[in-house]
Amino acid sequence: MKINVESIASGKIGEKFEHDFTYEMQSDINRVVKGKLFVMKTNYGFNVRANCFTNLKHTCGRCLESFESPLEFSFSERFSKENHPTSESTMKDDFRIEVDGNIDVSQAIEQYLIIETPFNTVCSNDCKGLCQQCGANLNQDECSCTPRLSNPAWENLRDLWENKTKPV
Ligand SMILES: [Zn+2]
Ligand SMILES: [Zn+2]
Repeated sequence: MKINVESIASGKIGEKFEHDFTYEMQSDINRVVKGKLFVMKTNYGFNVRANCFTNLKHTCGRCLESFESPLEFSFSERFSKENHPTSESTMKDDFRIEVDGNIDVSQAIEQYLIIETPFNTVCSNDCKGLCQQCGANLNQDECSCTPRLSNPAWENLRDLWENKTKPV
């Protein structure tokens, strides 16, 4: 997604403009990121702050159902000219202003989206997950599986109980 900043490139340092955008992601054709850019001319090029909004598609870590959740994130990045005369070593980490006066914020958006995407998501905090024995989604229905007695101490107690209650 390219934005032509040349229109203010001849302006004074400190000049600002805003730009609404809708970006269809290259890495995920089903995902759209919307937001607003705040661009300011600086001595090295432009400072770009972006407020972004998107819907994320997740798979619940407990019940494996897919669900969507909104995500808002923002970032700030520097865009500088290729041969800007400066000795600042931080300049090499900047994004570049293209020769035709465009800046391309796609890469920055994609990078920050990866950073901001949460891991280990659950569809809700009280998701009951799947039954470990029959695989039923316990949010939707209760299965008839009996809870497994995995602790040997309980197995012994059960044997004791069953022997005791057997008819003589
Ligand atoms: Zn779930
Ligand atoms: Zn079950």
